[in-house]
Amino acid sequence: TTTGLEKRDWAALEQKYYQGTFKRQPITLVRGEGVRVWDTDGKSYIDFVAGIAVNVLGHCHPAIVQAVQEQVTQLIHVSNLFYNVRQIELAEQLAEQSGGMRSFFSNSGAEANEGAIKLARKYGRLHRNGAYEIISMKRSFHGRTLATTAATGQDSYQATWQPLPDGFQQVPFNDLDAVKAATSDKTAAILVEAVQGEGGIWPASQEFMQGLRQWCDEKNLVLICDEVQAGMGRTGTFFSWQHYGITPDIVTMAKGLAGGIPIGAMLTGPRTDLFQPGDHGTTFGGNPVACAAGVATVKTIMEEHLLENATKMGEYWNTKLEELCAKYDIIDSPRGIGLMRAVHVKNDLAGTLVEKALKNGLLLNALGGDTLRMIPPLILTPADIDEAAQILDRTLEEVTR
Ligand code: PMP
Repeated sequence: TTTGLEKRDWAALEQKYYQGTFKRQPITLVRGEGVRVWDTDGKSYIDFVAGIAVNVLGHCHPAIVQAVQEQVTQLIHVSNLFYNVRQIELAEQLAEQSGGMRSFFSNSGAEANEGAIKLARKYGRLHRNGAYEIISMKRSFHGRTLATTAATGQDSYQATWQPLPDGFQQVPFNDLDAVKAATSDKTAAILVEAVQGEGGIWPASQEFMQGLRQWCDEKNLVLICDEVQAGMGRTGTFFSWQHYGITPDIVTMAKGLAGGIPIGAMLTGPRTDLFQPGDHGTTFGGNPVACAAGVATVKTIMEEHLLENATKMGEYWNTKLEELCAKYDIIDSPRGIGLMRAVHVKNDLAGTLVEKALKNGLLLNALGGDTLRMIPPLILTPADIDEAAQILDRTLEEVTR
């Protein structure tokens, strides 16, 4: 267990001091290593939540620990008024992965998307007669700021906060005709997750992503791919759009980019590379510590062949899910790609499964009552999968019994 940690009633203290915007699972995690985390009682869990797709290298990977430790002794923060070695190094690595895009760093996924929306609006202003509207997808998720809430295609996130910023509309995912019908003179950009995350793990079809690229070329629109959840190798390629043989104009990232240190990124190709000094900015975005962690994360993904591992382990995990779906009536329709997976859960039991799996030592995540999401670290081994599958099997038996 963690040394020097006082014994206190953390749940009660949170109730008193913290604003309750999150529905917490009833454990307090204090340590992590690899695919495992430990709570205040010293109980361990296999982590198939991974900070919601953040801990791509697992917990406390030595490469990240070392990079951060070294960086904090050299330079913790520097103003963006000055050049920043780690920022440039990380941007260089992302250029290598994206076919030459240039980066801008922020602190979160929502903030990366805000930057993308602004850049698309600048494009519209300069090159499409002042067009400003963003078309995004139903069931999408793009963040919790007002503009990204307006872009998010789920009513539950939008209802309370009206009026939201103008210039956003959502159309059904994987429906190119709907995108075409929604496009007007006001449209500046199309914003899409190639694999929808919060919406339930839904990969786009080949026709849809290729059709979007063609439509954007034909109509002079900007194609933005939100890779916040599906990027950083989670689907077996560095970016999930690489499964579709297309290149977007703008790409947003966050979550796994620095393996758990807060960071976001907005990448752009030459067509939309329009930001100039004064257009956009941030105090902490691209901070040396975050970027050092990012450099270590990208390097480790490549050195440890984690893209290949995500593909292989994703397929292996899926065979386990298929077996479990065949064995238990309450789950079906395993889906996803790489280590971004879900199953459909009947009778509104997803939350119950998560609670019972937690007691059995496996962290899972429910999306609504009908979807179980699994987004483990990319360092997963076959032995980890066997263990997680056994726990899930036992959990399903308990819930069905
Ligand atoms: N886009 C997608 C696809 C996401 O999954 C998320 C977070 N779940 C975000 C954007 C927002 O990221 P953040 O929470 O870092 O603002």
